[in-house]
Amino acid sequence: MEAEILKFICANQGAVDAEELMYNLFPGESTTEVISNQSKFALCSSNGQQRVVARTSLRLCRKKDCPGTCEGLHLCKNFLFSGSCHFLQRRGCSFPHVLNSDYNQRLLIEHELEGLSRAELCTLLLQSDNSMLPSVSPPTGVLCWLPVLFS
Ligand SMILES: [Zn+2]
Ligand SMILES: [Zn+2]
Repeated sequence: MEAEILKFICANQGAVDAEELMYNLFPGESTTEVISNQSKFALCSSNGQQRVVARTSLRLCRKKDCPGTCEGLHLCKNFLFSGSCHFLQRRGCSFPHVLNSDYNQRLLIEHELEGLSRAELCTLLLQSDNSMLPSVSPPTGVLCWLPVLFS
């Protein structure tokens, strides 16, 4: 059920109106019960509207030649953000470009994120990890939530 909510939120730029979420997925149920898992969801209000923001404890690993003990996703940052990596054509890139490698797939399943597309995962990782932000411009919709998430 949480995976379903997460997918819905991530498909909507990482944040949705609580009312809309409940209307679409769980009509008649209480918001606070459905999104009680605070490691995955955060409730915040904006202009009197309650918004549900998705989050995850999964992080992107930044170590080159990491032996895999980091419990972080092994994926090139450029590839995560755009689906392609411009370093690959030029001087080569030392990070993996396969989202569904055995290693990554295990982590995604562990965090119940295996149903997300690359773009959805990108939104989620971006807004869950503020160390990802300085060097990239996040997709629209993410930035407005950052003050709420990281204050
Ligand atoms: Zn690693
Ligand atoms: Zn790359």
